[in-house]
Amino acid sequence: MNNDLKSLLSNILNESITKVSPVRGGDISEAFKIETSNNAYFLKSNNVSNASNMFQIEAYGLQVIRKTNTIKTPKVLACDTFQNVAFLLMEFIDSKSASSSDYKNLGNQLAQLHQCTSDNFGLDQDNFIGSLHQSNKPNTTWVDFYTTERLQPQIELAKQKQLLSKNEYPSSQKIKETLEPLFAGIKPALLHGDLWNGNFLISKNGTPYLIDPAVYYGHHEVDIAMTKLFGGFSVCFYDTYYSNFETDEHSSARIEIYQLYYLLVHLNLFGNSYYGSVLSILKKYF
Ligand code: ADP
Repeated sequence: MNNDLKSLLSNILNESITKVSPVRGGDISEAFKIETSNNAYFLKSNNVSNASNMFQIEAYGLQVIRKTNTIKTPKVLACDTFQNVAFLLMEFIDSKSASSSDYKNLGNQLAQLHQCTSDNFGLDQDNFIGSLHQSNKPNTTWVDFYTTERLQPQIELAKQKQLLSKNEYPSSQKIKETLEPLFAGIKPALLHGDLWNGNFLISKNGTPYLIDPAVYYGHHEVDIAMTKLFGGFSVCFYDTYYSNFETDEHSSARIEIYQLYYLLVHLNLFGNSYYGSVLSILKKYF
């Protein structure tokens, strides 16, 4: 990190910076732990052209979750651009691996987040899923929202990238017909939106934090579908979560259909290794 940025951060924090160390694990931005004599902060920086927009949207998502007072997110301290480098400065969460009781708290607090509702599916702002655009255009029905704002744009992108061919994807008409009976009675719930196991932290004192959200109001099972796609969440997490929500005879089908969105995103971001999983869900349901 250059000295100019360091002194800008020091001014923002009103503290002298004693140490800057790289933090690994992110696939989009550079990340650093910034230490002062009394505190620690987390900084993400990126010089790609839309980075400032990405960070503003991330900060907004963290704030939307934070305001619910259900589950914590790191407090954002600054989001700006300096010498063509966008940065997002937030509280540093000194984390540990999750114990059974941490997973229970996470399951319970996620369920509380999912109790937060809205009149529409979507959000007042679009955001990103990974580095891809995610439309949150509000809609009153989940079938329409999930078809038009989730599956269709990713299918379209996969077609453009020639990752899916003509007979391999359904029309939006066909998608809606299939989803209609499975999505009856679904109410909007505030979602993290990208809940793989790298997107929560457990602080040293056992407080769960959500990071890197792709928030919107959708069906609460979408977050659960993502936790199950790549794993890393314990039985305690699911037991506690499901003590707050009922399942029905369509839950397992919906979980796969929600995983289809994330698999399409991975197909579009990382290519053919996700083709088999995408195709098997497309064939099974459409
Ligand atoms: P990217 O957007 O580039 O994928 P991430 O948000 O995933 O970056 O963060 C990169 C790494 O930093 C991850 O290992 C994550 O656990 C860690 N991290 C993210 N936010 C914080 C934070 N506020 N405090 C401490 N570590 C964090």
